[in-house]
Amino acid sequence: MIRLPGEYCRVLTVNLTSGRHRVEVLDEDVCGMFLGGKSLGYYLAWKHIPPGTDPLGPGNKLVFSSGLLNAVAPGASKVSVVSKSPLTRLLHDSHAGDFFGPLLRRAGYAALIIEGVLDDPGVLYIENDRVEILDASKLWGLRVSEATNAVRSMTRQEASVAAIGPAGERLVRISHIAFDVYRAAGRGGLGAVMGSKKLKAVAVYGSGKLPVKDEERLRILRDYWYRHFSESPTYGEIREYGTTNALEFSAAASMSPSFNFTRPWIPGELAARLSGDEVKKYEVEAPWYIHGKSCPVKCARFVSFKYKGGSYNVKPEYENLGMLGAAPGVFKIEPVLYFNVLVDELGLDSISTGNVIAWFLELVEKGLVDPSTFGLKAEGFGDAEAVETLINMIAERRGVGAILAEGVKRAAEILGVGREQAVHVKGLEAPAWDPRGRRALGVSYATADVGASHLRGWPSPHEPPIAGPAKERVESLARNRDKDALFDTMGICRFVSYPLSAVQEFFSAYTGINAGIEELLQAPRRAEILARLHDIIDHVTPPLDDTVPPRWMEPIPEGPLRGVRAFLDWDDLREAVREYYRIRGWDPETGVPLPETLERLGLGFAVRDAEYALKLVRTRLGMTG
Ligand code: SF4
Repeated sequence: MIRLPGEYCRVLTVNLTSGRHRVEVLDEDVCGMFLGGKSLGYYLAWKHIPPGTDPLGPGNKLVFSSGLLNAVAPGASKVSVVSKSPLTRLLHDSHAGDFFGPLLRRAGYAALIIEGVLDDPGVLYIENDRVEILDASKLWGLRVSEATNAVRSMTRQEASVAAIGPAGERLVRISHIAFDVYRAAGRGGLGAVMGSKKLKAVAVYGSGKLPVKDEERLRILRDYWYRHFSESPTYGEIREYGTTNALEFSAAASMSPSFNFTRPWIPGELAARLSGDEVKKYEVEAPWYIHGKSCPVKCARFVSFKYKGGSYNVKPEYENLGMLGAAPGVFKIEPVLYFNVLVDELGLDSISTGNVIAWFLELVEKGLVDPSTFGLKAEGFGDAEAVETLINMIAERRGVGAILAEGVKRAAEILGVGREQAVHVKGLEAPAWDPRGRRALGVSYATADVGASHLRGWPSPHEPPIAGPAKERVESLARNRDKDALFDTMGICRFVSYPLSAVQEFFSAYTGINAGIEELLQAPRRAEILARLHDIIDHVTPPLDDTVPPRWMEPIPEGPLRGVRAFLDWDDLREAVREYYRIRGWDPETGVPLPETLERLGLGFAVRDAEYALKLVRTRLGMTG
């Protein structure tokens, strides 16, 4: 078992109600078990957010957990935000930022826990030992870029700012937290958690030294890997386009979200209208805070464009183009870039927003809802004016926007129609990757603790065959999930794809500890178990909830994979999910982690939770004996 000294695990807790703060140094066993980033964030959330907590009530907490290698390895710049999601009521993590995590580490903190509620809108500012809450009543209502600029003026220009927009203030369940305007902890509605605390922004600046144990070895590692990622032709495409060039790929692979996932394959000429080359036509030089200082890849594309008489800048990504363009069927670059500006400025998650709007337009198109009953004009797919109006209505919780602001699962329940068309898992709207084009990707969505996330590991290999039982690919999915989760623990960006041996070497040079790769991989496995236990005790019944939406069991209507479904049938899905439970050391019938698995991973302190969770699931399923 790794024992990591407390200097790597200082946790700052700020209570907004009392205005007090305290610093806790975690025990070195705990620190070694969870390391940092996502894994440490989940441990802290599990410890401080009991099941049953109202996500928008004062008992919920927001954890900002910096990756262990933040400011240590090139491209290790991500902070994990962990909290209880108002969208799914699950413990949830979202990763973002190119500066916040490293500056939090330099300020001396592995993690920041925010608890309580402010009486009036405020900004939390942390600069090394200085912790203060500043008045933000004049900032309430501001869009994200205005708020971020105002916070920098109140604090320091070099500070990293995590802010919410009007959507988060209005507790929109699909609102995000924007980091330095253009990066977002997008998923799960964590912006609404900040809004519920009347916290407009958190700003951080740190200038301290990190506890590096072998400076010379670290320098050699940094130089080597920086050169590798910045020069190797393997990363040429991502350096050139970032993720903006992915729609042509996803459409050809029958994986696009086009027309609310009804047509995952679309012709190349249609997909090309939202291609990376289309984006490139508008590209301009990016401001300093767009790319991580240490990043050797610098993936972000920054564009400047005109729309309806206004001039705008934005940083488009595939998920924005896919979910705000292809999903609602708008295949014109300028309006889609403008939708991207709107969601960024209003503080909305582009994936969930695009998903819920695409769902609504499908219902309109099929005559299942009449938009005029909401005082709205909407034609169905491809109606750019309706998309723009709906984005604004969601952020303002106005008219039907107040219903869509609840997310697609709740919206279908409120309207009483559209359950079959709602594409989500456990309440989290699906991202821009339809699993029908990739055998067993649906298992990743089904078993991900947070719901439909594309960041919980993909099965290998990338290429077809798309036939055969999904179960055969589950082992590769579990392996890739482990790797991705370790990156989130270390704070390494997914586009800076170090081999695990390099992660191990950085860890060793930084901490002076020689740990095996398998030992490091145990940290996120522990986090996954704690999340699962919390969620089961809260409300999740794995054999019922670890599933996929009906849409992905419909046959693909056209293209080279015509007729293919995400799974051969529902039994194929259930077999694959059971295989995942088996690989993880969970009970194959109930999906509850087994006590012996917890003991093996050093989680003896949670065994009673596991026993209780098992009892709950068996009761919910009517199992006896
Ligand atoms: S590759 Fe892109 S997202 Fe990743 S750290 Fe670099 S600039 Fe940021």
